[in-house]
Amino acid sequence: MSNTTSLPAWPPALTQEQQAKILLLASTYALSRGFTLLPPSPTNPPTSAIPAPLSLCPTPFPRDLYDLAVRIQPAYNALYVNITKDVEFLDRVMGGVVSKVDEFQGELWRCWKECREDLVQPLQLGLFRSDYLLHEAQEQGQPLELKQVEFNTISSSFGALSELAGKLHNYLRASTNYFATSSLLSDPANYPPNDSLRSLALGLAEGWKAYGKDDARILFVCQEGERNVFDQRWLEWELLETHGIHVIRHNFDEIPQFARLGDSSKRELLITDPLQPSAPESEIAVVYYRAGYTPTDYPSKQQWSTRLMLERSNAIKCPSLALQLAGAKKVQQVLAEPGMLEEFLLRGDGQHEFSARDVEELRQTFTGLYPMDDSQLGKEAYRLAMEEPEKFVLKPQREGGGNNIYRTDIPPFLRKLEAEPTAPGEPPKKEGYILMSLIEPPQGLRNLLVKGGSLTANEGEVISELGVYGVSLFSDKEKGCVVNRGAGTLLRTKGRESDEGGVAVGYSVVDSVVLV
Ligand code: ADP
Ligand code: MG
Ligand code: MG
Repeated sequence: MSNTTSLPAWPPALTQEQQAKILLLASTYALSRGFTLLPPSPTNPPTSAIPAPLSLCPTPFPRDLYDLAVRIQPAYNALYVNITKDVEFLDRVMGGVVSKVDEFQGELWRCWKECREDLVQPLQLGLFRSDYLLHEAQEQGQPLELKQVEFNTISSSFGALSELAGKLHNYLRASTNYFATSSLLSDPANYPPNDSLRSLALGLAEGWKAYGKDDARILFVCQEGERNVFDQRWLEWELLETHGIHVIRHNFDEIPQFARLGDSSKRELLITDPLQPSAPESEIAVVYYRAGYTPTDYPSKQQWSTRLMLERSNAIKCPSLALQLAGAKKVQQVLAEPGMLEEFLLRGDGQHEFSARDVEELRQTFTGLYPMDDSQLGKEAYRLAMEEPEKFVLKPQREGGGNNIYRTDIPPFLRKLEAEPTAPGEPPKKEGYILMSLIEPPQGLRNLLVKGGSLTANEGEVISELGVYGVSLFSDKEKGCVVNRGAGTLLRTKGRESDEGGVAVGYSVVDSVVLV
């Protein structure tokens, strides 16, 4: 399993004129093929788009570690499905201290607790993304390792743009000779096929099919002001063109105006078309969230009651409240405790029996994960965070990028947290965080990064984060999954000096792998 290939110096030399030509080809390809974002402050309707952030060359990635990441995805899916079904576990891990110190997670958990005894739809759908960085051990001569950053269970984005990035890089290879100086870049066999758009859309279609009503639709719950709309539209078009399924888009604030639950005990989710109010309502088979993962999506009680209404409906939720809770960083940390992986993975997924070997493969992708509580391990973590902060990142229970505390920012941040008053009997605020060892990606890789259609001045080293998508359709009432599979990959690349990694938040570009 270990990798012995070292990564080449990167990228191959390109003259300024060649770079300019590739940029022109990439930009026109991006704009015409929908590898795009809305510009800052878009109009409604939009009158322009910009190329999504991209790299001009794909980035080398060790073939064996890529294959490993793809191969273990069904086991990771099964792990998170089994956690989602374990009410007692989620109550202990998320309903305990975390729900008391983290208002957002607390609200998610209370919302779930309020409705979970009275749900009509046993099926749930997960469109996941497990994110990894390559890790190079300090000691010389050690093989590169694959280390998990996090496992996303809600709003895993960039599936469409990622498939397009792979096509764009293949097009650049095929349409010029500029990649010919690199045997790695010039060989099409090094560009793995990636069908993340088609595979994620198929996942939504599988949920829709399981619902079993031919004229039912899929509801996309979106954020107001979203600039990454094309990534979402591609899924809509794929659902319509390949599967004949209609999508309705709404943000949280619109839903109460147009949606209601049916009168029967089935509680169908019914949506009126505001432009055709007298037409029959549409029944919703699947609710797909590209919103709802961050506190700003719930500015008032209104959005929480909308979430609760959707959860109580007969539509299949992608994800359910329980599945969203299972994706919390606190759960990731608890999974690193002895015996936890065995406990959840060995329950299987209804199709595969997972073995001790699978447990070991997943465990090897873990890096140091610590609680910030008063357990023995928590106390040790606190000491490490204060004395050797440059080795760690401190994470709150948040999604969407830009929330973590890095390195030497950790000690003053922890001191400030501790100085904040807590109500008598309330746990300390720091228990809403986890501490994680920093993964150290290999040195020496550069790339040509394009943002807003222009080459960035960044000539420094880059770091790439591999995401592996997964799809699981499963029932609360039955063991295992109806569907459990991998669903393609994403590579995001950022300047080494930036700690954070989101494309939407402006740190990274969408890239693709060239396998070494
Ligand atoms: P989010 O859910 O907000 O995306 P992440 O856990 O993915 O949170 O952290 C955001 C970014 O921070 C990642 O994309 C990665 O670039 C960086 N990061 C997170 N954890 C680590 C780690 N252990 N080592 C190195 N970088 C990390
Ligand atoms: Mg995340
Ligand atoms: Mg992330």
